[in-house]
Amino acid sequence: MLEILRRVIQEVNAARDLTGALNIIVDRVQESMGTQACTVYLTNDDDTRYVFMATRGLNQSAVGSVSLSNDEGLVSYVGERAEPVNLENATTHPRYLFVEAVGEEPYKAFLGVPIIHHRKVLGVLFVQDRHARKYDESEEAFLITLSAQLAGVIAHAEATGALNVETDSASLPASKFRGKVGAPGIAFGTAVVVYPEANLNTVPERKVANIDGELTLFRVAINEVRDEIREMGAKLSDRLKPEELGLFDAYLHMLDDSAIAGEVEELILQGHWAQGALRRVIELHVANFEAMDDSYLRERGTDVRDLGQRVLAKLQFSTGGRDKFPRDTILVGDELTPSMLASVPRDCLKGLVAVRGSGSSHVAILAKAMGVPSVMGAEDLPIELLEEKPLIVDGQEGQVITHPNEDQIRFYQNLIKEEEALIEGLEELKTLPCKTTDGHRVRLWVNTGLMSDAAKSLDRGAEGVGLYRTEVHFMTKDRFPTEEEQKTIYREHLQAFSPRNVTMRTLDIGGDKALSYFPIEEANPFLGWRGIRVTLDHPEIFLAQVRAMIRANEGVGAFLRIMLPMVSSVSEVDEAKKLISKCYRELLEEGRKVDMPAVGVMIEVPSAVYQARDIIKRVDFLSVGSNDLIQYMLAVDRNNAQVAELYQEYHPAVLGALKQIVEAAHGENKPLGICGEMAGNPSAAILLTAMGYDVLSMNSTNLLMVKLAIRTFDLAKAKRILNKVLKMDDAKEIKLYVDGQMRKAGLGKIIRTN
Ligand code: PEP
Ligand code: MG
Repeated sequence: MLEILRRVIQEVNAARDLTGALNIIVDRVQESMGTQACTVYLTNDDDTRYVFMATRGLNQSAVGSVSLSNDEGLVSYVGERAEPVNLENATTHPRYLFVEAVGEEPYKAFLGVPIIHHRKVLGVLFVQDRHARKYDESEEAFLITLSAQLAGVIAHAEATGALNVETDSASLPASKFRGKVGAPGIAFGTAVVVYPEANLNTVPERKVANIDGELTLFRVAINEVRDEIREMGAKLSDRLKPEELGLFDAYLHMLDDSAIAGEVEELILQGHWAQGALRRVIELHVANFEAMDDSYLRERGTDVRDLGQRVLAKLQFSTGGRDKFPRDTILVGDELTPSMLASVPRDCLKGLVAVRGSGSSHVAILAKAMGVPSVMGAEDLPIELLEEKPLIVDGQEGQVITHPNEDQIRFYQNLIKEEEALIEGLEELKTLPCKTTDGHRVRLWVNTGLMSDAAKSLDRGAEGVGLYRTEVHFMTKDRFPTEEEQKTIYREHLQAFSPRNVTMRTLDIGGDKALSYFPIEEANPFLGWRGIRVTLDHPEIFLAQVRAMIRANEGVGAFLRIMLPMVSSVSEVDEAKKLISKCYRELLEEGRKVDMPAVGVMIEVPSAVYQARDIIKRVDFLSVGSNDLIQYMLAVDRNNAQVAELYQEYHPAVLGALKQIVEAAHGENKPLGICGEMAGNPSAAILLTAMGYDVLSMNSTNLLMVKLAIRTFDLAKAKRILNKVLKMDDAKEIKLYVDGQMRKAGLGKIIRTN
């Protein structure tokens, strides 16, 4: 059964449109279950009807033209119940409806299962037989398993169908794709789709006029791969047996004009670009091999794919990395990385859209820092069809609109105007202190990582830096930066903010922050070698960085604070402190006029919450990294769009932990800040102020909105809100209540929608 499921899903995945996918489903289900009919109905756009979409056994000519309202017939009954309906004789069921056009009068037995994607019923898949009989448990289980696996594929195919490539783009209807808010703001622009190198699955369809050019590119690539294969064979000739070496000949043969190469050239001659033609041919061959019963032959599919990837890598190299971007680039990708972001000139980059990730992914955090509207986790977005298409990125609601129509364009233009007016209205707050109406002072600092953040932050009235993410500099290089290189960069930053506090975090890599030149391969990267764990294991990296930080402040006069990420036990603090003191002593011995920096710890792991008191006794300050703390407390991956709804900053357990940390820090009379995204949420900032957080550190974009919120409430009122919230047991209830209080105070416009 597993084998059949695997094959059906593979075939459906390879289908290039919804009709193709549905036809494969009904064919294969009918065949493998041996039923007389198999049919799929899907819900229409506003979920009011079920449309007859594909069938084997019923009347094919009614496909697309028959539909049932959502309270008619057994189909809607399955959808309503959201569970399987297994009937020996469907015609006697009270919900049975006879629809003449469909031609189901001879059928009695009925087994229907709902197709559900993200809690939403997309449609119903059912099988039927002429004679009355009850389907057995294994048949029911098969259909349920298949439907659960196919739901995502169908949702994707439905979305893709709306963007048929063959159609002239001007005549395409607008489509909306839901995702998660990555970075706020609205952007209009042209999609530029980026792919990780040499991934055949993600090569888009594209037609070209210069057929000769594509043919030449392809032939050069094929020749290079042939040479490589010959070389590999020669190198291994003394270590492999002749029959094993035969594999290389087989590879060379596959690349012959009479095989893969010839088929690709044929498609290029029809106007396909070389990469797309290659993908089509390879996919077809792989599918053929994988459909074979013989396990040896099935494995050959892997060889063909490998060959395809090799040729693709050459093609992508020969076309070179993209060096020209439209002035209104919306960068689109399956998974975007900070380096992809860095490859687009800042003045061309208008927005970001990623199929994976969430608002707490690091690339989203960078986008927020740069003020680039972004949508993450747009899971159903068919990126392969979007190249050069017009898009609107709605970073307020977390959605992407492809081929927007005039109404949508007007709507979003108005939203942009309203947003600009709001920001203009906040300008006057820049120079005013951040305090509640009864004079309780809260420090508003900024999170930085790029030099360009500094000017913007100071312009918005930042009083210090609460988190300088040093890894951003490391990510833009192709090797570890030297102590001297680091010193130069840190110095610029310290100079820009002097004489304010500047909190520099030691290298925090691992998790979703990778360095190309220091790969970390782990099954569970977020629970693995991250942050302080890496740098304590590599004191040479840690020492060079700390020396660079301390030296960078020589004669500058900023107040340098060094902060340690991902601490989970006091021994890490002790070890790190020893290394920092060693650096300081050595620098003095070298005759440098440097000051000992303040040392602090990020509280972002649950164990550190419980040991906050032990930790603060050892250092000068604490700062909560709520992005990671929430992920680790709630066991919700901050990058996973699938569980993004469960990533809740108002979760009662999170609020309880945040309060406990205040008690620990203030119990030792030491200052406490918070530098996760939560600090930049105006509603949450009211709760944090009431708890007693001394410093809120955020992206500069949010600074004036948070200041407005804090300047609107008095501390006693904020504390009343907090006390009420701390008695609640549900994050949604808390959000509703706090946002309600914000609205009452006239702050409805600065409430975050999600
Ligand atoms: C955090 O975890 O809240 C934090 C500020 O660090 P980062 O987002 O860089 O992991
Ligand atoms: Mg963190």
